[in-house]
Order: sequence, then structure tokens, then C-alpha cells
Amino acid sequence: MTQLHNMTVAQLAQTLKTKQASAVEVATAFLARAGGNPHNAFLDINSEVTLSQAQASDARIAAGTAGALEGVPIAHKDVFVTRDFATTAGSKILSGYRSPFDATVVQKLGTGVNAQGGAGMVSLGKVNCDEFAMGSANENSAYGAVTNPWDTSRVPGGSSGGSAAAVAARLAPAATGTDTGGSIRQPASFCGITGIKPTYGRASRYGMIAYASSLDQAGPMARTAEDCALLLSAMCGADLDRDSTSLDVPAENFSAKLGDSLAGLRIGIPKEFFGEGLAADVRTAIDAALKTLEGQGAKLVPITLPRTELAIPVYYIIAPAEASSNLSRFDGVKFGHRAKDYTDLVSMYKKTRAEGFGEEVKRRIMTGAYVLSHGYYDAYYLQAQKIRRMIADDFQRAFAECDLIAGPVAPTVAWKLGNNASDPLADYLADIFTLPASLAGLPGMSVPVGFGEGHMPVGMQLIGNYLHDARLLNVAHQYQLATDHHLQQPEGI
Ligand code: GLN
Repeated sequence: MTQLHNMTVAQLAQTLKTKQASAVEVATAFLARAGGNPHNAFLDINSEVTLSQAQASDARIAAGTAGALEGVPIAHKDVFVTRDFATTAGSKILSGYRSPFDATVVQKLGTGVNAQGGAGMVSLGKVNCDEFAMGSANENSAYGAVTNPWDTSRVPGGSSGGSAAAVAARLAPAATGTDTGGSIRQPASFCGITGIKPTYGRASRYGMIAYASSLDQAGPMARTAEDCALLLSAMCGADLDRDSTSLDVPAENFSAKLGDSLAGLRIGIPKEFFGEGLAADVRTAIDAALKTLEGQGAKLVPITLPRTELAIPVYYIIAPAEASSNLSRFDGVKFGHRAKDYTDLVSMYKKTRAEGFGEEVKRRIMTGAYVLSHGYYDAYYLQAQKIRRMIADDFQRAFAECDLIAGPVAPTVAWKLGNNASDPLADYLADIFTLPASLAGLPGMSVPVGFGEGHMPVGMQLIGNYLHDARLLNVAHQYQLATDHHLQQPEGI
């Protein structure tokens, strides 16, 4: 039998169902690996909680009432609120915060909403991330950077860096992530795993600490597309009473079409994704992956997404604008940290926020407040919203000619820790290929397609039209049947 920690979600689910291992045995194996907190991936672990969830899973398996992924462990990005583990969103301002409830996504993957119909997964704890999900390298966490299991002198990507590192280092078979401008796709790419951000509105945002609400989406990060399909099926579904942007579409079985053939599939290749700025090693790996897909029956169609470059300024106006509003709730009164010495209410607010927020979060709050302020709103925020619509329209024009779009996730492989420390703009620029799909609300995915400079993983991005999430997973799965990049693992694992 494959060692438990080397099994995929699908393999673990089968092993548990057929009682070749118990949920307690599986949880114990992963807890042992996470001990000592390799890569600084975890922010909260509590073996008592995990083992008691595993015991409950074993009881359900014995009683014949098991959920679809009963007993399989998962780690949650620390922006999902959880009752049994601390929740910090990677910020000092939420140190010591404990939520009175679980986020909907956490409930659905666990024992279900109102303890009904959940997948039955066991929570391994909370994983590190950039503070309030702001970042591309997981270096903005108040609890320290996460290291990349492929090369610990490099970043794991961000903001879901803890999720990606935990899966790549086999500390967890799967993790939740959130993606506002690339935070599932880019760390998945940097750590050589598979991740999907579904169509905006597919997964409930209830209990997901808000960064930029019109962009934030939850999604799974795992080793294979098959696993992502299983996890996404459990995570999605309308949540109309609790999330006003939840899509009113029925839950879907994203595994149903994994076996479909790629014959005749038209893959759009945006010329803007392959221009100057794309590193040669990344390009080589993507080109080879496109050849493989062609060999499987797909046709490559040249397309254009002419406003790709504008996605960076547009996103870095809209996301901070929404963040400056969302983060106003952290005032020292209701949650987490409160400054010790203050003279009156205003001084308490000021000191709490000055002490509690990190540099990048402050930068974004200031940018956001500025672009929303009287006199600048029309010049920046409103213009950005108009261009956002044009970017979405460009995709619709492209989808008249192709079924899905492929390109790189990021211009380079993972960079060295500290590389961009004095230049936040360098991190922003690296988001160029993930931001357009985010702004349009389209599903996007990262699939490992090989290795570049320093033997660091390269991810290919697949972007689909609205609600075509299953098609992305199908293409990724077919590609993974023909290749073994997703099976490679970092040395010493
Ligand atoms: N790097 C982007 C940012 O810092 C995206 C982050 C995300 O998707 N959460 O805003």
C-alpha cells in the first residue's frame, strides 16, 4: 500500500471506505508530518480536535453514514473562520480571535451546513497566508514567511502559500485556498500542485474573511485535477441567504466529465500572455504542454486579450478600494487585538490599527481610501470599473472563437525570499496573467506542466467561460493522464 501521506484525496477516500485504514490512523500520520511545522505552513494545529473529528468520521464509516470524502484530512487557509481553531487571516490584529461559527465552505467539507450532508473531511488545522490575503509570496504574514518545499530559499507564492506548501510537502493531501487576484493559481504553480478558482459566486463567501468582496473566491488546492473535482463538488452550491453574491445554480458533480475526450477542443492562446516579460523557461514548459494537448486532439487558436496590461492598474485600484472598506471593521472593539494604552475612543482605534496591521495592509488601506475619496473617485475608481467591464467583454469576444484559454500562471518560477522586499510593485507585476480572469469573474486553474530554472515547478493556467469549471477540470485531468509532472515531489519528502 502507498504510504498514507503520499496518497491523493481520491486514494485516501477509497482506503477509508474499504477500511484499509481508519480516519484516526490517517489523521495521526498527517499530524506526525506536520509536527515541528515544516515550512512554517501551519498557524494552528490541535491534535485533540483533529483526532476527535477523525473518531467521529470512523463512527460514521462504521454506521454506514459516511460522507463523500469521509475521514480524508484537509487544511484550511486561515481566512476561513473556524470554531475549533484560531483564525487570524495572517494578521496580528486578529491574534487570539476565535470565531463562534465555521465558514460555509469549512462546514460543507466537514460535517455539513447545520450538520447535514457534509463531505466528512477531517480538519488538520489552519494554514499560513499573506495578511488578509494581500500578497503574491506569503511574505506578508504577521506570523512569518512560508518556504517553498522545492527550494526553501524561495517563496511558495501567495497569498495561499501555506496551503500550497502543505500540499506539496505532503503535510496535507488537500487544502482550501482563496483567490482574489491569483492566490490559488499562483502558489499552486510555484509549488507544483493543482488548484482551481471556480466561477465567482460558485462557493459561498460566508465566513471567508473579506479582502475584495467582488473578487474573492474559495477553491481547492490538491495534487491532481481529479482531487480538485472531488473537493470542488463538496465546496460549491448556492448560499443565497448568507452570501448576496452567491450564484443561484445547483451544486454540480465536477467529477462527472473528467473522462471526456479533448478531440475538437479549441484552446485559445492569447498573444498578450506570451510576449515580452514571460521567462524563457516558463514558456518552454507551457509550449510543451500545449503540444501534449494538441496530441490529445485539441486545436490551438490564436486569440487576443488586448487589455491584459490594464488588469494590473485596474485590480490594484479596485481591490484596495474594497479592502479599505472591508477592513474598517477591525477597530479593536469587536475582534482580536486592542491597543493597551489609549486616551479615548479615537486614539484606541488609531493605535489598535497602527499596531495590528502590517505594512502592505496599511499601504492598501491608504490607496483604497485615496481612490474612493471625493475628487479622485471619478478619476480612478470609476475608470477602473469601466475598464474592468471591458476586460470581461474581451473574454467574451475571445470565447466566440475558443472553448477555453491557456497560458502561463506567472511570468517566472518562484523567486527567492526577500527578493521583492523593498519593491512591492514587483510582486504586483507578477500577477499580470491571473488578474484578468479574476476581474472578469471567470474560472481559472493551475496545472503543473514541468520545471524551469533551479528545477522549480511551472504551472499552466486554464481559463474557462462562466460555469465551465468542469471543462477546465476535464482538460487538466486528461493532461495529467498523459503526463507525470503532478506526480513529482520535492526532494526529501
Ligand atoms: N497578489 C494579489 C494581491 O496581493 C492577489 C491576492 C489574492 O488573490 N488574494 O492582491
